[in-house]
Amino acid sequence: MSTKDEEPVGNPLCLHCGTELIGHVLFCPKCGCPATPAALSMPYESVLARGFMAREGSSRPRKLIIVIGMWVLFGPTFLIMTGFLIAGLSAAPNIVEQLSRQPKDIFPAIVVLVFCSGLAAISGALVYKTTKNYVQRRPEATEKPEDDADADEDLNEGDVAQ
Ligand SMILES: [Zn+2]
Repeated sequence: MSTKDEEPVGNPLCLHCGTELIGHVLFCPKCGCPATPAALSMPYESVLARGFMAREGSSRPRKLIIVIGMWVLFGPTFLIMTGFLIAGLSAAPNIVEQLSRQPKDIFPAIVVLVFCSGLAAISGALVYKTTKNYVQRRPEATEKPEDDADADEDLNEGDVAQ
């Protein structure tokens, strides 16, 4: 929806690194950033998107899309796992009593506890770190002069188009 000129819409640009995305790709071939919201919702693709977000997103999230992607991908995991742990905590006396009668169930219970705690901790830390780094990021104007300023303008148009 560019009003600046009447040029036909070209290929979209990667929201993360600005690489031109040719064809209907779900991920940027250069940096691996999800190229479309579809990449966040499809089962296999969302695993790749999570990998990218975990690797790249939390350390230097320069674009809002990265922060949103992080919340979409890891927010629900954090909320569900935290809710699960709180529910388990409130039922702890019953669970302990149950386990004392059936000691062979202790190992699976510990596995579930460790798994849920781990997922809650990892997803919570990623969402928190990404949001914090995005809010506290340095202004992009101080990064580089001239040529990069043009690239940033193109990127911002891409953001609006999405
Ligand atoms: Zn890219």
